[in-house]
Amino acid sequence: MTEKLLLGQTLRFGADPFETAVDDAAIVSSRGAVLVQDGRIAAVGEADDLRARHPGAEVVDHGRHLITAGFVDAHMHYPQTAMIASWGLRLIDWLNTYTFPEEMRFADPDYARTIADRTLDLALAHGTTTLTSFCTIHPESVDAYFGAAAVRNMAVVGGKTCMDRNAPDGLRDTVQAAYDQSKALLQKWQGTGRATYAITPRFSPTSTPDQLAALGALWAEHPDALMQTHLSEQVDEIAWVRDLFPQARDYLDTYEQFGLLGERGLYGHSIHLEPREIDRLAEVNGALIHCPTSNTFIGSGLFDTTGLKARGIRCGLATDTGGGSSFSMLRTMAAAYEVGQLRGTALHPAQLMWLATEGSARALHMGGQIGSLSVGAMADITVLDLASTPAIAQREAEADTLWEALFPTIMMGDDRAVAQVYVAGEASRP
Ligand SMILES: [Zn+2]
Repeated sequence: MTEKLLLGQTLRFGADPFETAVDDAAIVSSRGAVLVQDGRIAAVGEADDLRARHPGAEVVDHGRHLITAGFVDAHMHYPQTAMIASWGLRLIDWLNTYTFPEEMRFADPDYARTIADRTLDLALAHGTTTLTSFCTIHPESVDAYFGAAAVRNMAVVGGKTCMDRNAPDGLRDTVQAAYDQSKALLQKWQGTGRATYAITPRFSPTSTPDQLAALGALWAEHPDALMQTHLSEQVDEIAWVRDLFPQARDYLDTYEQFGLLGERGLYGHSIHLEPREIDRLAEVNGALIHCPTSNTFIGSGLFDTTGLKARGIRCGLATDTGGGSSFSMLRTMAAAYEVGQLRGTALHPAQLMWLATEGSARALHMGGQIGSLSVGAMADITVLDLASTPAIAQREAEADTLWEALFPTIMMGDDRAVAQVYVAGEASRP
């Protein structure tokens, strides 16, 4: 048995800070410790206490740095890594102009693996230990992604993106191919190492009703799989969905009718929801994924984090790269704060950190396994330097509480703030 004792400031959660007062939900130690045994967290407590009780453990002293759960990105597109920050346009034009041509390149397994490796390395550099990604229609893109994650021992979620209409030649599959290939990939990867498969219709405009029904049937056969898609991102997209599905009560109904609404469903964006959609999502316990840098970058709208959390709906946080403009979950938290401000609610730093770790993990039904500094969780851990740049350091020096010390890093920090990342207890950098 290998034992490692990480020392530093520690931040963990005993409850959801949207439901419980922040100072009761968050557990902060200015000189804390995390004991890692065989890749899992075996104990969390005060440094002096755990040192005395585990004298044989290898000690890694992170000093004043903040030890937190690794970030969990609950929605992104690894095939869009090379086209992040492409200028202009609305969602549909942006897909046609930038996204689809780039996604065509993933028919080449070598290119897919190059970008998968690059994306996972960028994630780790930014303190993100779990990605939830759309791949492309090519099965090779899924193998490349899960293969690259296995080498790094990362817990990732992904699936073959299915599209059989409103996409260019070379990026459309068929009803049968979507079902057969998704099923084969699900059977190959689900539960292999740390991989979790998500059945992945891109969104209802790019799937025929028959394809949505086939994927709904596949989900019913494999209810342990996740299902990820997009919902109500832009107003003109919603109007397009209404034209394509004249019988549907609303956008969510285009999934609901075909067996694609469930508690293991992940609905990215979910900005412009109708009251019926919110009621149904609350009833079935589906998860909404907030992608704030993407929503401002593509001009989509303002997600109602506080209101939807108050309805008891599970919410995760995500970069949505390359529609999102940053690989950093710190920058993503900052954008979530800014979106909250534009809606008249200031999210507390504890709420932002919770969304980026445990909130996303719960959205993925992985609460207690990842995104948490709790006993029994995998030791996927990020260590933050709260004084990573001169501008941040001079503000942090004035702080009286952890929240005051942490908030400048949330608002102004990037990969320079990530001092170390552990994946299943193994340090990812020297
Ligand atoms: Zn997306």
